[in-house]
Amino acid sequence: MTRPPGSNGGARRERCRCGRTVLRQLVGNRAALDVTADADPLSAAAAAELREPNRLDWCVRQRKGGPDLAWVDRRNHPADCDRPHVIDHKCTAPAPAAHAHGRGQQGRRPRNTSVPEGQLTLG
Ligand SMILES: [Zn+2]
Ligand SMILES: [Zn+2]
Repeated sequence: MTRPPGSNGGARRERCRCGRTVLRQLVGNRAALDVTADADPLSAAAAAELREPNRLDWCVRQRKGGPDLAWVDRRNHPADCDRPHVIDHKCTAPAPAAHAHGRGQQGRRPRNTSVPEGQLTLG
């Protein structure tokens, strides 16, 4: 078994485009998975109830550098785990537009795009 070469620096807190705070981390031993999980901690049991085939929950270990997400492996993971768990983030924001710009906007798009006056050069 090969270990990742000290690459696991833990999870980063990010603001998703839907406005929620999420934890992002590459998790995995062989093939790392780019995980985006809700930052809200749940109990292991609550997270297990939310789990779906395509929505995993993650065991959160606190490390010096911050939270660190780990696979919930039934063989190694205690059913009565007392660590916080998080569940994969289900994004409610619409798919990003092809020409995404203006970061800092939070998923709410006005229907009419107003054009700055200086750009109207017809005439
Ligand atoms: Zn756990
Ligand atoms: Zn989102």
